[in-house]
Amino acid sequence: MCGIVGFIGKRQAAPVILDGLAKLEYRGYDSAGMAVFDGEKVNVTKAVGRLKVLEELTHGGETMPGTVGIGHTRWATHGVPNDVNSHPHCNRDKTITVVHNGIIENYIPLKNKLLKKGYDFVSETDTEVAAQLLDYYYNGNPLETILKVLHRIEGSYALGIMFADHPGEIFAARKGSPLIVGQSADGCFIASDVPAVLRYTRTVYFVAEQEVVRLEADHMHFYTMDEEEIEKEPTTIEWDADAAEKAGYEHFMLKEMYEQPKTVTDTLLPRLKKDRIEIEELGMSDDEIREVRKIHIVACGSAYHAGVTGKYVLEGLARIPVEVDLASEFRYRNPILEEGAMVIAVSQSGETADTLAAIREAKQRGFAVLGIVNVVGSSIAREADHVMYTWAGPEIAVATTKAYSAQLIALYLLAVKFACVKKTVDERMYRLLLRDLKRLPDQIELLLNNKEKIQHFANRYIGARDVFFIGRGIDYAISLEGSLKLKEISYIHSEAYAAGELKHGTISLIEEGTLVAAVLTQEKLYKKMISNMVEVRTRGAFVLAVTNEGNGDVKRAADYVIYIPETNQYFTNSLAIIPLQLFGYYISVGKGCDVDKPRNLAKSVTVE
Ligand code: GLU
Repeated sequence: MCGIVGFIGKRQAAPVILDGLAKLEYRGYDSAGMAVFDGEKVNVTKAVGRLKVLEELTHGGETMPGTVGIGHTRWATHGVPNDVNSHPHCNRDKTITVVHNGIIENYIPLKNKLLKKGYDFVSETDTEVAAQLLDYYYNGNPLETILKVLHRIEGSYALGIMFADHPGEIFAARKGSPLIVGQSADGCFIASDVPAVLRYTRTVYFVAEQEVVRLEADHMHFYTMDEEEIEKEPTTIEWDADAAEKAGYEHFMLKEMYEQPKTVTDTLLPRLKKDRIEIEELGMSDDEIREVRKIHIVACGSAYHAGVTGKYVLEGLARIPVEVDLASEFRYRNPILEEGAMVIAVSQSGETADTLAAIREAKQRGFAVLGIVNVVGSSIAREADHVMYTWAGPEIAVATTKAYSAQLIALYLLAVKFACVKKTVDERMYRLLLRDLKRLPDQIELLLNNKEKIQHFANRYIGARDVFFIGRGIDYAISLEGSLKLKEISYIHSEAYAAGELKHGTISLIEEGTLVAAVLTQEKLYKKMISNMVEVRTRGAFVLAVTNEGNGDVKRAADYVIYIPETNQYFTNSLAIIPLQLFGYYISVGKGCDVDKPRNLAKSVTVE
């Protein structure tokens, strides 16, 4: 999920690789490494931590002679970030070297097979399996061997591969992870993203899904998975380096919003096996699931909002009572945890100080904690008893979008799994729920592609002073997150209210022209919501409604309507949040705020 850079040509490779990896630093990473062929053998240097460590270890690359090499920045998914797990990884006699971004989903059966054949593994990574599998099939023909291996691995990859007995070549391949190759008069490059090579060349080729590339110092050859050579047209990059980092998007936040279909797919698919939900990392048998009497969700910020949605979904589907706590409250309120309680801690960074403290509080009382975390090897990942990772990849913008969406999916998966085990939904319903989960990525994409409509609307509200978000049930949870998105990046005061609460105070704040965003995706609550919308509208509010396709009645009470595609009532959050994220984003852009780095905020809150 992070960075790959490779070079073969007339220059010393190591400094080129270091320079390229530095240009990919924006992608986030936890360790770095490189391998360079020195004319006789391949030398590998790798280290956990910043790229600076690798630079120091190799004196800016000087100590690694050779003009052929591959490098990597790692965002750990399998195995904690440490020196051994860092890439590159090699086969047993160090003649095949691999860097990899992505996840090899079937690495366990492949590893077991290789173990039986007498292979030893030094790291905990899925990637090492690819290196050893290449060794197992190697017949002296690198391309043939790579294709054989690629046909056997499932999951996602961008790969850079070197064979010591073919020192004039580097190989690259991709499926589901980004990869480009570039060519200059000095040599050929592979990289995860264009900025890594811009200093050397503007001539690049975008490697397509399931394509393999063979690079020589002055030539590149492209192949299909059937070993047929293909012709490709180069692209000349016109963007500057800054725009290239964001893949042409104006801000990381926009880029990350656009990554949500992939994030949702990546969090969902590895847990669907033969059309059943299997969450191995949960470490709970069906009997243990049946014994869960109560769930406590602890989290902060947007993760807390995901937790509030989780409460409605878990209670509704699995009929287990759920309490959601702000971690900063949970840790000091002497919470009552009784037998049969399960504690779930949700955090993107895995470093949130209050959530970590809440975990310690629960563990001290003898309760096991499940962490829903994005960063592998983070403090929460280490301290929780079990970890369910959200595979959102690094998130750079301070305002979370894709990690939040992935947290929702993790909670839905738990809810549907528990419901199935507890038989609170029947087999037919279970299948419908799975069908609707699988549809979410395309539906999210559809909403994202409608962004102009929201941009247009947002431009009218750049001058707003107060905005209110209202909803009932799950729609209240969506309102909480929609309101936070707006206020944290646009500095416009906004509040989310359970719509039924309006008349207990807030309605006095409504003035002529005040914007009220009403979320109504729960059919049984439409009528109640429409009454609340009429209430604020008669007091002068301008009402923006987010509702399901087909809800014609809404027009009676709204000035502007955004429709979301049809899904199960428990999953509407994943769709309704998209226009609200876009709304917050465009207001922030329109006001000229620093969208990706809003004032006074930090991405990972490691203090109380
Ligand atoms: N899954 C691999 C690992 O954990 C690659 C991670 C990455 O994309 O950086 O080492």
